[in-house]
Amino acid sequence: MVVTRRDAMKMVLAAMPGIALAAPRERMPVLFVGHGSPMNAIRESAYSRALQALGARLPRPSAILVVSAHWLTRGTRVLLSERPATIHDFSGFPEPLQTMTYPAPGATEVSRRAYALLGPQAQLANDWGLDHGTWTVLHRLYPNADIPVLQLSLDTWATAAAHYGLGAQLAPLRDTGVLIVGSGNIVHNLRATELRPDDPLASQGWAQQFDDAVRMALSRRDDERLVRYQALPGSAMAVPTPEHYWPLLYALGASAGGRAPTTVYEGFQSGTISMRTLLFD
Ligand code: ZN
Repeated sequence: MVVTRRDAMKMVLAAMPGIALAAPRERMPVLFVGHGSPMNAIRESAYSRALQALGARLPRPSAILVVSAHWLTRGTRVLLSERPATIHDFSGFPEPLQTMTYPAPGATEVSRRAYALLGPQAQLANDWGLDHGTWTVLHRLYPNADIPVLQLSLDTWATAAAHYGLGAQLAPLRDTGVLIVGSGNIVHNLRATELRPDDPLASQGWAQQFDDAVRMALSRRDDERLVRYQALPGSAMAVPTPEHYWPLLYALGASAGGRAPTTVYEGFQSGTISMRTLLFD
């Protein structure tokens, strides 16, 4: 007899009469979302519509854990906040964006579980909120802001393999209804932007080359190649700094051993930002 993790959990529950526990839930998928400019929160496009349609068809999560490219720390931090503030970590954008809020409740119980899963390398922190890597995306996926949210920071000292491993450690949260979201961009070079910002087909050659190589590795589910992304063609220009790529590694780690992802959206913004968005189930 093969005992799955779910069977094992049922046996444990059966041996604990009188203890009320949430009903077992279907394993949640994992997302990687290319977030690009904060303007995507208010600018209607094929990309924004793809996120809205995705949110409408996903099972409703019990909570959402977002690994954002915009929370960089030494060591891994898990946001512990009852009411996370909306952080406007940008400037020079139109007033509707500067004043937009995403008033989702915090997910403190999940924060503690994530902290327990990650071990001593992580720490709980309340000195952050929801940065634009999180709220511009969740505003599209779950516009009602009524699902508890927590964020995980990126340890700037960790290797790519370590980031992948941290994602894998978070995978058990999926069995409790938590949606894990990596929010970054597979290609992200703001210094080289010069092409038409709104044309999804305009891209620099190296940007397209790297995005294609990642797409092919994803289709084979060649996680090792994706962890060693610096060996892929075009990587030096496509990933000049790693923080927007790293969230992909969390999505891969949290879905390790799984199938190739389905593509929710693909295309470029400003020629050097891949908006490739992926669903791992
Ligand atoms: Zn960003």
